[in-house]
Amino acid sequence: MGLKYSRRFLALVFIVVFANFHGLNYAEKAPKYSFIQEATSAPEVSFYDYIVIGGGTAGCPLAATLSTRDAKVLVLERGGSPYTNTTKIRMENFISTLTDDSPNSISQSFISEDRVPGNRARVLGGGTVINGGFYSRAETLFLKEAGIDEALANESYEWVEKKIVYKPRAFQWQTAVRNGLLEVGVLPDNGFTFAHLNGTKTSGTLFDKNGNRHTAADLLEYANPTMIKVYLHAVVHKITFTTKDGQRPKADGVIFYDANGGRHIAYSKHESNNRSEIILSAGAIGSPQLLMLSGIGPAARLRSLGIKVVLDQPMVGREMADKPSNGLLIPYPTHIPLSLITVVGINKISNYFESFNGFDLSDLSGSGGAQPQSSNPSQEALANSTTNQAFLVQTIFGPISKGYLELQNTNVSDNPKLRFNYFQAAVDLRRCVSGMQTIINVVNSDSLSRFRFRNMTTQDLINMTVNRAANLRPRNPNATTSLEQYCIDTVMTFWHYHGGCQIRKVVDRDYKVLGLDQLRVIDASTFSFSPGTNPQATILMLGRSMGRRILQSRRR
Ligand code: FAD
Repeated sequence: MGLKYSRRFLALVFIVVFANFHGLNYAEKAPKYSFIQEATSAPEVSFYDYIVIGGGTAGCPLAATLSTRDAKVLVLERGGSPYTNTTKIRMENFISTLTDDSPNSISQSFISEDRVPGNRARVLGGGTVINGGFYSRAETLFLKEAGIDEALANESYEWVEKKIVYKPRAFQWQTAVRNGLLEVGVLPDNGFTFAHLNGTKTSGTLFDKNGNRHTAADLLEYANPTMIKVYLHAVVHKITFTTKDGQRPKADGVIFYDANGGRHIAYSKHESNNRSEIILSAGAIGSPQLLMLSGIGPAARLRSLGIKVVLDQPMVGREMADKPSNGLLIPYPTHIPLSLITVVGINKISNYFESFNGFDLSDLSGSGGAQPQSSNPSQEALANSTTNQAFLVQTIFGPISKGYLELQNTNVSDNPKLRFNYFQAAVDLRRCVSGMQTIINVVNSDSLSRFRFRNMTTQDLINMTVNRAANLRPRNPNATTSLEQYCIDTVMTFWHYHGGCQIRKVVDRDYKVLGLDQLRVIDASTFSFSPGTNPQATILMLGRSMGRRILQSRRR
């Protein structure tokens, strides 16, 4: 008996050592999690202490943290597993995943009223499964705004970083951009750091050295497997409320449907335990949409769609924003390895400069690949390969311009109507113009000169980008001569949507929905500006931090 156990023990030690030595990652272990199941296996009625709607960037770290104590946690995710096809989510498939429009795609595309196409995740792990992977922490201003203690934030960042964040390898193109930014004065050189600092730096990535992606779903490895259940293809249609004797409405349950159309209801157990909660982490588009579908929103609009009003809350869906991105396409004559963002420049007026290369952007235009006619066919012909090109892009702090989200119908799987009003605020446009001037300087720097076609001028690149920018906006004749018009006409998304359930307007500083009990919103919809150069680090940190805060208040 003893011998049998010690052999087993040795075998286990060998497997662990072998796995670590060979860099086998958590993603390879995670599909075996017994607690991740198809929603078709869910009971018709169930009870949990915490119900997290949306297993995304915030939802996964939040649920993993909550499940480590004496609380039973349910995660309902409308998409499938990121582990079923790990090739699809490798770095080289970044664009092809976004252009997959099939019903089971892990990316749901939409076109905003601004005529700019965008994408939202539909998969366990959320945006971290389809995004560019670039990882950079927020400025400290954000922590003050969001009411998060700095020590807790730092501990939470590290908790995430230990598991899914990598120091990137030195890509040829990223090194050239880094040197170009330094050459034109985006200083100092901050080396490798996750911190948000003025200057140029290399930061983290979700891709390991083999190009495999690690995601928020991997953070579920921190969960207590006996205290958590994750249902996939569980589309939440509605949060239910009890409203007794003139008291504030209390969230008490969630209605969801499985892949076969089966209806289920999960209740939070707050009748017996006043600390149970429902937490909405369905993302900047999903969370305001689901609040409205559940009767929390602008009353007149909800009534016009036949939705019973639980709370008239006009700020749900207001102040939606997206960071505008503008840049230059740079075709190069010889093949170089593709790269996603690993370098960022931050200047004093908070323009953020980033780049990627080796991808064909034209498929993202929302026009089914059709591009406007070139104004300069001979130069277009120079750029004969659509993947022998880089995109050097700048985006801005904020933004100050805000838009809105409105329901178009009561189908939760349809996109709501979205408008971001890019550049409505003059300061956003001024920042864009200034950022474009820096981009032009970087393109003309010595560091980038060996990647340029010799006879192709910056004006040629401007003309080409006006033709190829991935949007459906009309092109004004002076878009190639005025940088203001260039910014307006070539604006694309950087996919950093936020707002719709902002702090102080829809939720309080504990992320509890104002005017209701037992319901919080924890995700990018609560932001009044997009944190850092890129938000995922902050959203992952927020999930972990809020999980810890909720557990603390449970123990009180
Ligand atoms: P999500 O991560 O989107 O989570 C929401 C989850 O809720 C999803 O899994 C969704 O399927 C689920 N859900 C929604 N509705 C329902 C429902 N009714 N029922 C059940 N489940 C539901 N950020 C960076 O920092 N670096 C980058 O390089 C970067 N690149 C990006 C590239 C792309 C193409 C995209 C789309 C985003 C990128 N971002 C990047 C932004 C970042 O990924 C997002 O801001 C972040 O992932 C949003 O997190 P979230 O938790 O708010 O929402």
